[in-house]
Amino acid sequence: MKNGRIMDTIGKRWQAIRTAIDAAALDAGRTPDSVSLLAVSKAHPASTIRELHTFGQRRFGENYLQEALAKQAELQGLGIEWHFIGPIQSNKTQPIAQHFDWVHSVDRAKIADRLNTARGNTLPPLQVCIQVNISEEHSKSGTNAAEAASLAEHIRQLPNLRLRGLMAIPAPASDPAEQQAQFHAVRKIYDHLLAAGHALDTLSMGMSEDFPAAIREGATIVRVGSAIFGARIKPNTEQSI
Ligand SMILES: *Cc1c(COP(=O)(O)O)cnc(C)c1O
Repeated sequence: MKNGRIMDTIGKRWQAIRTAIDAAALDAGRTPDSVSLLAVSKAHPASTIRELHTFGQRRFGENYLQEALAKQAELQGLGIEWHFIGPIQSNKTQPIAQHFDWVHSVDRAKIADRLNTARGNTLPPLQVCIQVNISEEHSKSGTNAAEAASLAEHIRQLPNLRLRGLMAIPAPASDPAEQQAQFHAVRKIYDHLLAAGHALDTLSMGMSEDFPAAIREGATIVRVGSAIFGARIKPNTEQSI
């Protein structure tokens, strides 16, 4: 195959990440299969996804709708589970609801309502997470703890959405203790929602630079891009991040 050598590298990186996830889980007294790896393939071509798929990777995350739709069309029939993890513009809720299995970045009732309507009842419910923002100066996306609680109540009423948990993108921190403190804050919001009676099973947190700290705080999905695929070559300009 033309890119065999490069693909080998991706396979080795993927294996190394999975091994590191398993080790972090065991370290935290958890089973390796309690942490799922979401391969974040934004800015990488369908051919690369196809290669990773041959190793057994099934869950892929995308941030940009048009880019994702093009890859999905190329990769039909592979049984890939597609996760939308980017900011959601309300005029894009229809295709997002129709073409993804999961949406991690729900952060307001209006978006939840539109996804619910667009999903309809012919597909299985859309699996969703509420995006929380525990470092508010860093990004405008995401809810605070109080908003997360009311949004969770709202989503509970929507028949075509199934709330699975929370997603967070903390401010980058190189100090593992600081990383862990941020993930702990997300975990506390999650625990409050559980105590309020929401049947949740998903904490989507941790990326290439900080997934071990996230796993120590209970992450069940880590979203890893560059540590598997290498650096993203060009910033995508379809939407601002
Ligand atoms: C790009 C992205 C990731 C992956 O980031 P890496 O640092 O490349 O692992 C994870 N989550 C979200 C929401 C992203 O946008």
